Parts: sequence; C-alpha cells; structure tokens
Amino acid sequence: PDVTLTEFVIGGAARFGDATALVDGRTGESLTYAELRAAVTAGAAGLAAHGVGPGDVVALMSHNQPSFVVALHAAIAAGAAVTPVNPALTPGEISKQLRLSGARLLIAAEPVVDKALEVAGEVLVLGEHPRARSFTSLFTDGPAPELDLDPATTVAVLPFSSGTTGIPKGVRLTHRNLVANLAQTRAGWRIGPDDVQAAVLPFFHIYGFTIILNSGLLGGAKVVTLPRFELDEYLRTLAAHRVTRAYFAPPMVLALATAPHVEDHDLSSLRFALCGAAPLDVEVTERAERRLGCLIRQGYGMTEASPGTHQVFDDDFAVTPPGSVGRLSPNTEARIVAPGTDTDVAPGETGELLIRGPQVMDGYLDDPDATAATITGGWLHTGDLVRVDDDGVFWVVDRLKELIKYKGYQVAPAELEAVLLTHPAVLDAAVVGVPHTEGGEAPKAFVVAEGAVEADELMAFVAERVAPYKKVREVEFVEQIPKSPTGKILRRLLRT
Ligand code: ATP
Ligand code: MG
Repeated sequence: PDVTLTEFVIGGAARFGDATALVDGRTGESLTYAELRAAVTAGAAGLAAHGVGPGDVVALMSHNQPSFVVALHAAIAAGAAVTPVNPALTPGEISKQLRLSGARLLIAAEPVVDKALEVAGEVLVLGEHPRARSFTSLFTDGPAPELDLDPATTVAVLPFSSGTTGIPKGVRLTHRNLVANLAQTRAGWRIGPDDVQAAVLPFFHIYGFTIILNSGLLGGAKVVTLPRFELDEYLRTLAAHRVTRAYFAPPMVLALATAPHVEDHDLSSLRFALCGAAPLDVEVTERAERRLGCLIRQGYGMTEASPGTHQVFDDDFAVTPPGSVGRLSPNTEARIVAPGTDTDVAPGETGELLIRGPQVMDGYLDDPDATAATITGGWLHTGDLVRVDDDGVFWVVDRLKELIKYKGYQVAPAELEAVLLTHPAVLDAAVVGVPHTEGGEAPKAFVVAEGAVEADELMAFVAERVAPYKKVREVEFVEQIPKSPTGKILRRLLRT
C-alpha cells in the first residue's frame, strides 16, 4: 500500500483504542493505542512547528522504552527520516553517524544526554535533564502535518548495519520498503490483539525495529520493553505479562539452554519463539525448547532487506526443521548462485543467496559504488551461503566472507562452533581462520569453558565429528566471546 510507515503502523492502530500498546517492563509506565497515536500526532506537530520537515534527518539514541516509539513515529510523521543510534556508541562514533546521515537534531534518552551534548548541535531529551530541552515540551495540539511525499522514493529510516564484517554501512530504507516488509511478515505471522511481545533486542537495530516493535504494533499486540537482556528479569517479564511471542538472538537461546532456573517461571503463555541475526545451533535450540516449553524457529534477513526475507509461518512452526530459516517471505524471490558468478547452482547445492523484492533497500547512504556492487538487476547480493531443500525450506551455512580456506577447501566457522557447543564443558565458542603453514589458513577456536577441559580434548572431539580438512588446529580459552548487541560474533576482533 502507498502509505507512510507511520500511517501504516500508528494510523492503522486507531481501531485498538484503549488496548495497551506499550509497557515499560521496568517502570510499568504504559501507553494505550489511543494515547500512542495522540502523542505521535502532538510530537509530529511540535517537531514541524520547530522546523523539522521533509528532507531532514533526525537521530534517535535511546534504549528500548515507550518514548522511543513516540519520538520515532513523531519524527517520521513530521516528514523526517530517522537514523537510530546505538546508545552504547562513543561520542566519536555518534558524531560520525550524525555527520554521515546529515542529522540536524538528536533526540536522546536521559541516561545518554551528556554524551549527546558533547557532539550534537541540538539535543532533545526523552525524560528530563537539566541541560537539555525535553522532547515532550515541544508537543503541540493540532493535526500532524500534511505530508506530500512519495513513499516509494522517500527514505523513512536510515539504520546502520551491524558492522560485523567491517565498518557499519548506512542503509536507505524507504517508507515502501518498510511497509512492504511489515505486510510480508504479517502474511506469515498472525499477530493480533491477544498477543504480548517482549522487546529486549534493541530498537536501533532493524530486527528489534521492524520485526518486534512495528510488527507488534501493527497487529495490535501489547509490546513490553526492556532496556537490556538480563535473564532473570527477562523470564520474570515473560511470566508477569503472559508473553505469547518471544524474539531471541542466539546468545539469549544459549542462556536459556544453560541457565538453572528457567523452569521456575510460568512460561505457559508462550506460543511462538523466533530467533534471528546469527547462526543458531540445533542442539542448543532443542535444549532451550525443552525448558521454555515452546518451539524456537528461525527467521533470516539483513538491514538491506528491511530486514526480513525468510520466516517460519505460524502454521508451519511444528513442521519446519530446527536449524533452517523457513521459507521465502511472500512476494520475495531468491536465487542461489555460485559465489562470484551469475550462474545458479544445481538444486540442493550451496551458493550465495540473492534476493529480489519490494523490501530491498533503496541503496547505501552516499555510496553509489557499494550500492552498485550489492544490487545488480534488482538482485541484492546477501553475502551469505545458503541452500534450499525440496520443500522450499532454506538453510544458512555461513557468511561467504567468514569461510576459512584450508588447502583450497572451504570450512564454515558456524559448523565448527555448533560442534564445539555440543561438548558439555563448552559454554560458548567462536571459530576464525588464522594463518597456517601447510593449509594457508586453518580454523582456530576461541572457547569459553566450564570446568577443566584441555585444548587437545576439544580438538579431538571436533576431529571425531568432521572431515579431516575441517579440523580445529588451535584452541584458545577466553572469558567471553565478543558479540554485537544482537549477538553476532565479532570475528574481526578475534583475528587481531
Ligand atoms: P555488516 O553488514 O555491517 O558487516 P551484518 O551483516 O551483521 O553487519 P545485519 O544487517 O544486522 O548486519 O545482519 C545481517 C546478517 O546477519 C545476514 O547477512 C546474515 O549473515 C546474518 N543472519 C541473520 N539472520 C541469520 C540466521 N537466522 N542465521 C544465520 N545468519 C543470520
Ligand atoms: Mg551485512
């Protein structure tokens, strides 16, 4: 449909009226759908009176909380594009994102206002702060501004990719991209007013933004926000709010699989649990499922695809194998090509996934060369290796860039990590390629271990389970595996 993101998500929610839209899981502060809509309108009118309008970029730096959502949709309804900023960034990094995105205004949560004031021209605060004007002080009665914009070409959100493989890339997502992806996922997930969603994965990342927040509001669900993942608080929240749909990243599933007290919580309300953002081991999945009493299935996507391209539909949960990422979302096409070529692989073979559909980004921010290299003939090159089975179910093998080349053979770190995680003493693991005299490059494992276990034992454990060329040839024990806020292993930090 040819509407703006905010018309689609907040406008459509009018029919949910007095139902609760958002609850702060910590403070209990909440907003009904009617209140959310009124606040977005007052915020949009206020921002417009303040001079914010089409062509402007507003930066938004906040942990997950209801006022994030008001500021986000108010800025979009004023005609601006929003660039979400990770509140954990350093002042230098924030400053860089503001410069790259051309943001003229930064709306910041109270705990990060001091940092915001160091780098931004104008700062509005969500909450109160002695040195910054509060966002709500701008609120004005009166209608939201009439916008004359083309949803197909106007950028609504400018998120940055996770920076797993390099420097985060600014991604231009239009209203149509985001609305299309919400409509696509909605076709597979029947989120409705009886649903309750816990939102702990960050809204500044596209997974939290589209899949958890906006798809929940679009369906009329109650969205319970938490600022960060702490297992016990998270489990208490699932039980207290009778959460029906949970959204995970792999480290959360790992925590659920290994923590002792999961069964103490009444999680009987859970009907669907979804995981995405990085590879998820099947054994870890099954262990966590037994404790949750709910199936966990994966979705797949990327910032450049607004983000969803694959999902497990509600109706397919029980019949889709764990470890897969489900089927293509509606109105989405895929090709699987031999890497570096334009030739499709034989059915069932592994290759690079290309995606075409209305959710594919308009392009990277100010980088026509990178855009042209990533989208050819409408096809988005995902950089991920996948295969598809006869039922149309897709399996992600790993990122092309992360493959380790041992004597010309290709080794996927995710496969070795999954094997290591099945060892009882291994709490977490990451595998990277390191220089190797005979092989050119060989797998090295970084392991977080519990109890006494030797490197030799782990290497033998893997060797018994994989082809000889895939053997782990070095193990280093570490306290923790470096990960992004959505649980992606930051292998570049391990290689240095
Ligand atoms: P950057 O592009 O900046 O290096 P990034 O690719 O991690 O970072 P995102 O757009 O947040 O940034 O993540 C998309 C990527 O996440 C996909 O390309 C894929 O590699 C990975 N991913 C997402 N879902 C899954 C999944 N279910 N299984 C395996 N990998 C996944
Ligand atoms: Mg990427």
